[in-house]
Amino acid sequence: MTVANQKGGVGKTTTAVNLAAAMAEAGLRVLVLDLDPQGNASTALSIPHQSGTAGIYDVLIEGVALADVIQESPQVPGLLCAPATIDLAGAEIELVPLVARENRLRKALTTYLESLGEEDRVDLVLIDCPPSLGLLTVNAFVAAREVLIPIQCEYYALEGLSQLMKNVELIQQHLNAGLQVSTILLTMFDARTRLASDVASQVRDYFGPRVLRAAIPRSVRISEAPSHGETVITYDPSSTGALSYVEAAAEMRQQEVTA
Ligand code: ADP
Ligand code: MG
Repeated sequence: MTVANQKGGVGKTTTAVNLAAAMAEAGLRVLVLDLDPQGNASTALSIPHQSGTAGIYDVLIEGVALADVIQESPQVPGLLCAPATIDLAGAEIELVPLVARENRLRKALTTYLESLGEEDRVDLVLIDCPPSLGLLTVNAFVAAREVLIPIQCEYYALEGLSQLMKNVELIQQHLNAGLQVSTILLTMFDARTRLASDVASQVRDYFGPRVLRAAIPRSVRISEAPSHGETVITYDPSSTGALSYVEAAAEMRQQEVTA
């Protein structure tokens, strides 16, 4: 599943790492692929990602096996991450002349998943995208079956969504027919404001049951967790922010069963 929205600061990374941690706490093996050169997901999962560390860049550009760059997060057992180093900033351009440039992540991921035994089978892959619709995000869309769009409940929230949906359609037509926008998550929701409720109801009208009932509140605990190199799931498990991600993860697992 790819977490995408070309707007920056809407909660993509926060959603990817906290859902991953919540799913891992529930006993699933979860792999986070960090596709953002900033490496914020790697930081939140306490995975070293200084320049020179083997990461997604080496997988996409050098053809290194995904298995060779994956590390386990010390926070939760069964929580894995392929880190992003700053080198990935160049990948957007370095990918252009390469053969099968849109398919490189899919190929690496398929090889990796097929190499796993029953014992170490990965239940869920979450891909954290950069805030753009370039080749890195295209690679994520081609490698995934589902897209999760985090939407920040603010005035400009819906701006850019039609462009994102158009891109998903293009990917469906040309590169990955099975791709579905399956899940929408409302983030930084402030129930006290009229605006947040208005945006939430517009999003629910448009996307229907694909919008998770759980909305993520604006929470200081969520925003300070990464500076401690943690997800809010381990940093403050009883906070409303942590509980909202646990709830969203439970809803997603239930959808999977009933779908
Ligand atoms: P993106 O990956 O889409 O750029 P981030 O997940 O990095 O967005 O979030 C942007 C900023 O907002 C970060 O500083 C993050 O800590 C903060 N943030 C994200 N979700 C919340 C929330 N629910 N409450 C408070 N702050 C949040
Ligand atoms: Mg991010």
